[in-house]
Amino acid sequence: MKFKYIYGPVNSRRFGKSLGIDLLPFKTCNFNCVFCQLGRTHRLTNERKEYVPFNDVIKELKIAVKRFEFDVITFSGSGEPLLYSRLGEMVDLIKNIFPDKKLCLLTHAPFLHKKEIRKEIQNIDIFSPSLDAGTEETFLKINRPHPEIKFEEIKEGLLKMREEFKGEYYLEIMYIEDINDDEKNIKGLKKFIE
Ligand code: SF4
Repeated sequence: MKFKYIYGPVNSRRFGKSLGIDLLPFKTCNFNCVFCQLGRTHRLTNERKEYVPFNDVIKELKIAVKRFEFDVITFSGSGEPLLYSRLGEMVDLIKNIFPDKKLCLLTHAPFLHKKEIRKEIQNIDIFSPSLDAGTEETFLKINRPHPEIKFEEIKEGLLKMREEFKGEYYLEIMYIEDINDDEKNIKGLKKFIE
């Protein structure tokens, strides 16, 4: 069987063997990051919806779990997983069916300043958001977000998650020579992290 929504397992330096779940059509994202390994964003959107059929994803996952050995199930792939409107429902269902499997979310953290969205993902085990800029100007330059995405709201969401989330939390920063490795950005990020 060829999987449409499940990929891997891939070896992740941080999380071990990771079985991926991809909930978005190719390059559907609220960002258009200059370093994106998938290339330019085709569909820059801030609309949350069920981009791929929920039940088909779960069907594939059940087969993949029997077939592969892995350490963690990771939401990542062709775009920003938080754009998937039924992500929280999916997290809860997977935890229900496979309580011994760890769930990880890789995200650029849109929407998390909203309490109801943070609540949706409270049952994941590993939260690994990215923040690549210490200033708003650099954020706009590197991540090229949808116009509705605000730097301050992303930072607010990350801080609130830090306060409320009980699982493992890894902040990831992508440094790019001559774009965000200057003193202002490094100091801005340091201050935020502290
Ligand atoms: S958020 Fe992720 S998928 Fe979207 S453009 Fe940036 S790196 Fe690519």
